Amino acid sequence: MHHQIWNNCLRVIKDNLKSETYKAFFEPIKPVSVKQNVLTLEVPTPFFYEYIEEHYVDLLKKIIRKELGPDAKLEYSIPVGKNTGQYRNTVIPGSNGMRNFVNPPVQVPVEPSIRNPFIVPGLKKLDIPSQLNFEYSFSNFVEGECNRLARSAGLAVSDKPGGTAFNPLFLYGESGLGKTHLAQAIGIKVKEEIPDKTVLYVNATKFTTQFTDARLKNDINNFLHFYQCIDVLIIDDVQEFISKQKTQSTFFEIFNHLHQRGKQLILTSDKPPVELQGIIDQRLLSRFKWGLSTELQIPGYQTRLSILKHRAYRDGIELSDDVLEYVAKNIVNNVRELEGVLVGLLAQATLNKKAITLELAQSTIEKLIKHTKRELSIDYILQTVADYFHIDESSVLSNTRKREIVQARQVAMYFAKQLTKTSLKSIGVQLGKKDHATVLHACRTVNDLMETDRRFKLQMGELEGKLTS
Ligand code: ADP
Ligand code: MG
Repeated sequence: MHHQIWNNCLRVIKDNLKSETYKAFFEPIKPVSVKQNVLTLEVPTPFFYEYIEEHYVDLLKKIIRKELGPDAKLEYSIPVGKNTGQYRNTVIPGSNGMRNFVNPPVQVPVEPSIRNPFIVPGLKKLDIPSQLNFEYSFSNFVEGECNRLARSAGLAVSDKPGGTAFNPLFLYGESGLGKTHLAQAIGIKVKEEIPDKTVLYVNATKFTTQFTDARLKNDINNFLHFYQCIDVLIIDDVQEFISKQKTQSTFFEIFNHLHQRGKQLILTSDKPPVELQGIIDQRLLSRFKWGLSTELQIPGYQTRLSILKHRAYRDGIELSDDVLEYVAKNIVNNVRELEGVLVGLLAQATLNKKAITLELAQSTIEKLIKHTKRELSIDYILQTVADYFHIDESSVLSNTRKREIVQARQVAMYFAKQLTKTSLKSIGVQLGKKDHATVLHACRTVNDLMETDRRFKLQMGELEGKLTS
């Protein structure tokens, strides 16, 4: 039965993928069983599981649902320790694109689309999926000096959502340090302990898109009702609300509504509230500071080592201490990168059938460092832009208001924002001691000009080519 089902799936997969991919990733998979609506597949190594979950989960989900119905689920069985004699199979549920944590249906008032005084607005039941990724749990979040305060505030909030002084809980820090993970961990814990609570995770970009759609469809009231019935609202990356005035004022309304009713808000941002000055509406910004803002910092060596060990254990890889220590010593800035190295090592070891030795770790990291060194520096952008417009770098940095110089400066700022991870503030400082508002203005000006001036747009395309080649 499971063979039959899997063969049907394979046929569709084969039609949808390049044959190399199909051969490399799907041929080695063995169907193990079908129980009710759960299909279990045996994959050769944890790497397969990761790779499939990352790249093909949407496709698989669709296909399996077709075979097994709308509630179909996927599980992976992974042989662990085959070579060490301690053979066992770990079974990992597939994420199936956020399978877990169903919220109870909530009652939402329906506004009749044509206002008719004889129709009393009714109530509609809404199922709101929580959009949480079960991997981002507290048990997968390694504690360290760098996240102690944020983590314990998160734990407190998840015990008593809306009932602590940490409302909103504002988590900030550079990219890759665990903001999304921790914010979701709170949501997951709430769902585990108080399943009746309606939890919703959404990033600011998605919120903005939903809002824009609702406006186009004249559906703002439903949008508001939807958000106003959430008990724990997690908005990720609020810095993305930058220069979206209407979205911000709607979010302001939702924020007030929820906060007044003792609902919990959790926000994350890559900048602390002070640096959102000028990016986020003043009224909204002052609300952000009502609760607790706390930073996720760069993990120290010991924490990096613990994170690596935890991750390797989860993936079922055995790594020697010298490999782990080498990676922890050399990848210092960012947890995402740390995990990236581990996956890279695993991939190479699996594909080339090599053991993960210290040498392999060294060469992987060397490549990675070379690769990241290529990240553009502001200096390089300045130099390239100045060259392109035949202007001295020093004049670009000066206070001149000559039109072509101002424009070159704006273009440099624009590319610095687009192509590096530098903050607006720091771009301003590096490009002529300007403040972040000037940089923001420059980015908008360049955007506007690209829309209206074809020649300028072509020049920008050319410049981008030079900068990124
Ligand atoms: P951010 O949202 O700050 O950019 P993420 O939350 O996406 O960062 O974290 C990047 C990766 O690092 C994720 O895979 C996450 O699970 C992992 N990670 C971050 N911090 C920790 C931690 N303390 N323990 C375990 N994994 C972590
Ligand atoms: Mg994030």
